[in-house]
Amino acid sequence: MSAQTAARRAKNAPARGPSRTAARERLGPYWKKRDFKKTTEPPGRPKVAAGQERPVFVIQRHDASHLHYDLRLEEDGVLKSWAIPKTPPQVEGLKRLAVETEDHPLDYQNFEGTIPPGEYGAGQVEVWDKGSYQPIEKGRGKRLFLLQGRRMKGVFVLVKLRSADPKDKNWLFFKTRLKTQMRQKEQGRGKGPAPARQK
Ligand code: MN
Repeated sequence: MSAQTAARRAKNAPARGPSRTAARERLGPYWKKRDFKKTTEPPGRPKVAAGQERPVFVIQRHDASHLHYDLRLEEDGVLKSWAIPKTPPQVEGLKRLAVETEDHPLDYQNFEGTIPPGEYGAGQVEVWDKGSYQPIEKGRGKRLFLLQGRRMKGVFVLVKLRSADPKDKNWLFFKTRLKTQMRQKEQGRGKGPAPARQK
């Protein structure tokens, strides 16, 4: 690294958290899929959170070729995203499939509108729920977090389904209790998800 590059990096580097460059790299797949002359979705810029505010979550109802709900969690300057083919699980006992999709820019949290026919994700998008979220645990293939939305309130789990194919992006998303999670951990059963039960 040249001294000039180092100086520029030092100047741009946030006091804490991920770099803007890393966030920009993560938005590549999002940009590639869209033509911003045609869609009103935000091109978005990678932002680095100031570190004081709680991260946000949003769930967008997306009436595309198949109606689904997009769960997005703010993480490292972008919105990590999963598409849920059924209504999000507001109560315990419902386990939903959640298919990991490309990272979206933070600006996307406020996006509502109609993506024109022929464009990627064509159809109507509206914010179904939004609020702050609090990560509780994050491991490889598992996230435990608290959602504080209007519709989604409480502790939730996202757990990646094991698959022989590393390209598989299927996760399970469900509401839980911290007590249940801790008990499972103590009993050494916290490593994998319970068998899928879709209602
Ligand atoms: Mn979608």
